Amino acid sequence: MLNRRELIKRLSALPLVGGLLGSSAPLTWASSTKTLLPYRDYFAELGVRTFINAAGTYTAMTGSLLREETKAAYNYASEHYVMLDELQDKVGERIAQLAKSEAATVTSGAFSAMTFGMAGVLTGMDPKKVTQIPHLEGTGMKTEAIIQKAHNIGYAHAVRNCGVKVIEVESKAELEKAINKNTALMLFINAYEPDGQINAAEWLEVGKKHKIPCMNDCAADVPPIENLWKFNEMGYDLVCFSGGKGLRGPQSAGLLLGKKELIAAARLSAPPRGDTVGRGMKVNKEEVLGMWAALDAFVHGDLDKDWKLWEEQIAHIAEAVKPVKGVEIKIHVPPIANHVPTLDLSWDTKKVRISGNELKAILRSGHPSIEVAGGGENSISITTWMMRPGQERIVASRLHEALAQATA
Ligand SMILES: *Cc1c(COP(=O)(O)O)cnc(C)c1O
Repeated sequence: MLNRRELIKRLSALPLVGGLLGSSAPLTWASSTKTLLPYRDYFAELGVRTFINAAGTYTAMTGSLLREETKAAYNYASEHYVMLDELQDKVGERIAQLAKSEAATVTSGAFSAMTFGMAGVLTGMDPKKVTQIPHLEGTGMKTEAIIQKAHNIGYAHAVRNCGVKVIEVESKAELEKAINKNTALMLFINAYEPDGQINAAEWLEVGKKHKIPCMNDCAADVPPIENLWKFNEMGYDLVCFSGGKGLRGPQSAGLLLGKKELIAAARLSAPPRGDTVGRGMKVNKEEVLGMWAALDAFVHGDLDKDWKLWEEQIAHIAEAVKPVKGVEIKIHVPPIANHVPTLDLSWDTKKVRISGNELKAILRSGHPSIEVAGGGENSISITTWMMRPGQERIVASRLHEALAQATA
């Protein structure tokens, strides 16, 4: 990086921008049109706290940091006009190849992917029905979606947006009984598979038997990379992913993968078409191209290398807190969703006199600020996959410091 004196010297040689220089800051090309703008620390200017993300992919924490490939595609797209449908057509083909699905489209997240998928199932290619959603009565559209009770933890609102009633079932017998002439869709939430009585394969089997389309919400379920195509190959009609979690595409993007005719139908409810349930769930060229670039980088990237880094980072943090008496360490990989090395810390509050939430507050209020996950009575949880490499050292020393202080 340039030091301040060199920077000023260089900048003052540029007549148009020399006077814009406010503070000591690196020089950046704002875009490929070569508009030279001084670096601007927007978040500092606004007084918005930035932090090291040792928690994971949380919407409230703005998800993930974009891959370099995503940023390049995003910036590139911002400088050209294209027809939105043409771009979705072409990017959809490439994404479908990468994810081994018949067809694909970019949505504004896994949640909207579910809404679009539901809409497509209800309307087919009928443009009148597209405008009628969410009022289904008397339209000839089906009116119900089935979900396992253990899976019904908020996200089914995405299909309720289309006006369907969500029917909860627990056992396979209940599922068979719940299916009727109004059943439009069977929704499976992949991350909750272990909590329900019916697994992904059995759910699909029942759907096939009764010719009911099945959708699997896999929002947070890469890695492993194979999950991208596992459920398409299994025969799920629709599969949804978040773009801004493990894929590190735009946080306001997601993927709807599935059968050709259903993706085509789903897109009738998507912008640029108005008078649709999806008009407010817009993605523009930047998200569409950025999503493809992120997926391409993910599929062709070296996940083994990333994994090794995450393991080393977790081990580094674990080593740092190990000497604190009363602290217990558990390193594990959640089986589905956020399937990455994870460090769970818990402690004996008689020895380490601090609560999980107090520890979180200490980490949050320090410099740099750090966010971790969990935080109940006497525990917190850490992942490193959303950090910048190297930040694990800061997290390790700050954690050690805070825990050791609480033993004093
Ligand atoms: C994150 C998540 C969603 C929502 O995904 P977005 O990409 O934020 O729309 C839906 N379902 C599950 C299981 C999730 O984890």
